[in-house]
Amino acid sequence: MAVGECDCGECQTAYLDSAAPQNPKLRGSRGYIGRIEIRAAEDFGITVTLDQIDGKLYELYALALDLRPPFNRQLPERWTEKGRTITPM
Ligand SMILES: [Zn+2]
Repeated sequence: MAVGECDCGECQTAYLDSAAPQNPKLRGSRGYIGRIEIRAAEDFGITVTLDQIDGKLYELYALALDLRPPFNRQLPERWTEKGRTITPM
């Protein structure tokens, strides 16, 4: 479940916590699980990364970048995915 969110005003990062590890094999470690890069038809690039501490999901980082000049739009509430790249880490 989400226990907090970043207040930087740029990203849409949620901090997560859970009673038990989702992946007990990763106990005692910390690091990124993977990254997803999404290209939206509205000309946004959206990066999502997921990381874990001690086998528990810890942070879901999401940042949308406006790729259309003058690069100052906010990501609309609804958008259409054009493609994605998934990188396990
Ligand atoms: Zn932030």
